[in-house]
Amino acid sequence: MPLLFRRVKDLRNHLRSLRCDKGFSIGFVPTMGYLHEGHEALIRKSKVQNDVTVVSIYVNPTQFGPSEDYDRYPRDLERDMALCEDLGVDVVFAPPDEEMYPMGFQTEVYVKGLSDILEGKFRPGHFKGVATVVLKLLNIVQPDRAYFGEKDYQQLKVIETMVRDLLLPVEIVPVETVREPDGLACSSRNVYLSKEERESALSLYRSFLVAEDLISKGERRAEVIKKKMEEFILSHPHVTKVDYVEITDPDLRPKERVEKGDRILLAVWVGSTRLIDNWKVSL
Ligand code: AMP
Repeated sequence: MPLLFRRVKDLRNHLRSLRCDKGFSIGFVPTMGYLHEGHEALIRKSKVQNDVTVVSIYVNPTQFGPSEDYDRYPRDLERDMALCEDLGVDVVFAPPDEEMYPMGFQTEVYVKGLSDILEGKFRPGHFKGVATVVLKLLNIVQPDRAYFGEKDYQQLKVIETMVRDLLLPVEIVPVETVREPDGLACSSRNVYLSKEERESALSLYRSFLVAEDLISKGERRAEVIKKKMEEFILSHPHVTKVDYVEITDPDLRPKERVEKGDRILLAVWVGSTRLIDNWKVSL
């Protein structure tokens, strides 16, 4: 079993001895738990690149809006610990809220601009919560490398920007999105979906194929591609709303004409579940 820590001080002491006395490199995978194949890919990469792998499991309340799914977010530490053991994780950090946000906590990290577009428009304050908790976790673990999934592409960009701007001594390693065999991106939130909703949720992935098909036939106008994708997604039962479909360059600047390497990002409600996904244009 991996060693399980609940307290910042205990984890710091343990990692200090691995880092300083033994000279081990440390890889860090921050998660909200309820681990799946996407998390697994991050952990496997960390295992290859580092002597020690630390996984945090923490459903961070400050990145959820008041009407979001914080309370019902799936949690199962026992199952996560068993999976971490199978994967050879060395250390799990699962702090209680009072350890991360003790009384009097009043500092936030705000990555301007990037935090206010796309997801940020629909989830005000979300990336402030993410950047703040990730900076705290990085300061606790002090890893050589930290692993983030492209599944949450905007989050990856926010973290990369924070690390660059604040000169944090850590390498951010992106990991490609892991999908179910039929194309649905792995997500802890997929457990919310009924069988019928899961079928309709496939429209997110398939809309990327619709886009690739249009592009391969010569269409380059982002407006036209976005409209066709949205129509396609909305033609599925249980899809209640498309929050956005956007096409941007790799740094999330909107594009009018699509090129290889651009990103297509979307957020869609299927029943009462909000799903996000994104795609790199391959041409
Ligand atoms: P979460 O537990 O959802 O906060 O995710 C923890 C980390 O796993 C984040 O860096 C996510 O981007 C990453 N992740 C989540 N789902 C996937 C996936 N399907 N493929 C790759 N990485 C993922």
